Amino acid sequence: MRIAESADWRENLAFDTPVSVAEVVPGDPTICAVCRADSDPRPRTELWAVKHRHPKNHSGYVRFYCSVHLPAVDQPPATARPERRAPRRPAAAPEKIRAMCPDCYVEVSAKGLCGVCGNTVA
Ligand SMILES: [Zn+2]
Ligand SMILES: [Zn+2]
Repeated sequence: MRIAESADWRENLAFDTPVSVAEVVPGDPTICAVCRADSDPRPRTELWAVKHRHPKNHSGYVRFYCSVHLPAVDQPPATARPERRAPRRPAAAPEKIRAMCPDCYVEVSAKGLCGVCGNTVA
């Protein structure tokens, strides 16, 4: 029994939505529809399958593109390119410089009072 050439995966694709070729139809490296002979076959993980509408064929047609030639349609699925966000750093709190008691060499309290000798340091 022969497997029909129009495999199911094409029918299940959404129009104009790039999907990883490796996900929908894994197999040997293949070529981008635009690069064609100009390039060596690429791993399918690097290629996008896009289903285009066809004026006569209701089910449309599917082409593979490399990331360079991927048509400007919807954004690739979020899973493909996880966006890296730089961790947000909390704004550094201004460092409070406290005076030191000239006699005891200890930091005085917020009110300027030395906890050792009781001096008030401005
Ligand atoms: Zn290409
Ligand atoms: Zn003191």
